[in-house]
Amino acid sequence: MHIISPHELADLVIAEPLLESCLQYTDTGMDNDSAALVSEDGLLICSTAAWQSNSISLVNLQQLQQLRQLPVRGYLLADASDIRSRLHDADALRQRQQHNPLNLDHTRAQQALEDLVQQALQRDASDIHLLFDHEHASLAFRVHGRMVGRVARSRETLAAAIAAALNTRSDDFHELFDEQRLSSASINLSVLLDGKPQRIRLRVQKSPTRNGFAVTMRIQCEQAQIPNLSDLGLAPELVQQLQQLLCQPAGLIIVAGPTGQGKTTTLAAMNRELPSTHKIISLEDPIEIIQPHIEQKPVIADHPELNFANMVKVALREDPDVISISEIRDAGTATAAYTAALTGHLVTATIHAHDCFGVLQRLMDLGVSATALAQPGVLRAIIAQRLVALPCQVCGASGCVECQHSGVRGRQLVMEVLPATSAVADALRTDSLSTLRQQLLQQGWQALEPQLMEPVSCD
Ligand SMILES: [Zn+2]
Repeated sequence: MHIISPHELADLVIAEPLLESCLQYTDTGMDNDSAALVSEDGLLICSTAAWQSNSISLVNLQQLQQLRQLPVRGYLLADASDIRSRLHDADALRQRQQHNPLNLDHTRAQQALEDLVQQALQRDASDIHLLFDHEHASLAFRVHGRMVGRVARSRETLAAAIAAALNTRSDDFHELFDEQRLSSASINLSVLLDGKPQRIRLRVQKSPTRNGFAVTMRIQCEQAQIPNLSDLGLAPELVQQLQQLLCQPAGLIIVAGPTGQGKTTTLAAMNRELPSTHKIISLEDPIEIIQPHIEQKPVIADHPELNFANMVKVALREDPDVISISEIRDAGTATAAYTAALTGHLVTATIHAHDCFGVLQRLMDLGVSATALAQPGVLRAIIAQRLVALPCQVCGASGCVECQHSGVRGRQLVMEVLPATSAVADALRTDSLSTLRQQLLQQGWQALEPQLMEPVSCD
């Protein structure tokens, strides 16, 4: 039995005379993932569950095919969520063409959201991107850092799915869904992945655009394993170096890089490496990886009281050994982090900067002076990192079914690590950081830049 890819499924035309029967069959089979549709050119496409259920309904569908004098060309397998999406979109389009007001029932709207998430998980996507204009909607996934699989979807179906989710599934969405309002919320749901229920948290950001609105959903798997440093794919010597840095009783360890380059994961892996005899307070906006062994506190960056700078001060009164800051992005937080390190705490944090030397400059721009940074024991190390795309081995990066047409099969973490040696302190005091960088490069220091250029092999 052949499997039809989501791409090929998207290109099929559904046989209009059988749409109602297929919808009926699929909507009643939502619980056990039974779904089927018939294409205009005579293919009956069903989910594995439908195929295995030996249900008379599939036979009935085929008989209907013959009754309506449609060709009968055979069976293909497809994912239930993909089949449902195609059917629900076709139904929404039909309702619109008949000028019926769309009466999308609640179950179907909820199912549409679950199907979206299921499709994202199957594609190994980190985010779901939806774009709405007055007439249309489009869907794309971010897979290994790239936007892939953009398809047109029914505006009605997707908008109803988002509205239903925000209005009924969210624990922190306290308004009624309005397309033209900026809003962010979290949604908890459970979807089937490889037949097992998986608990998912979605961070939803919605904002108006020129002629519609955009919705971005970041997927967080609640049962996701918290990685160890050795799980990150780094060289063993590098893992050892990081482990030694984390043995220090106090000081700042800062992870830098642009958004979406795995900083949060590295921070979580570092926190996991710390001994259980340490009290770790982690301040995060938002909490992305659930870490049961530490005290995670949600922070709201722009809040007058719950901001990072204030929450670091609060944390300092709670007898911590380690304070973890999900992002230093203002002067208040930079100063608070510095104070925490100065008063004998280990501080792990991320910051937006291009490379290690860029971090020093950024901290100075945020009001932590060179003299302050050069003080012994305050700065421990800076890490700058990127995720480098690994080309798909099957198609050689040109795009194929295996890599969801992204040309990429996974990403490799690369790093440069700058321990805060006396040479770094001297360079800070004498304002000669660029000279130091040149010297380090001559001595064979492994900078980030060349690692980004090198083609990294998959094995
Ligand atoms: Zn490929």
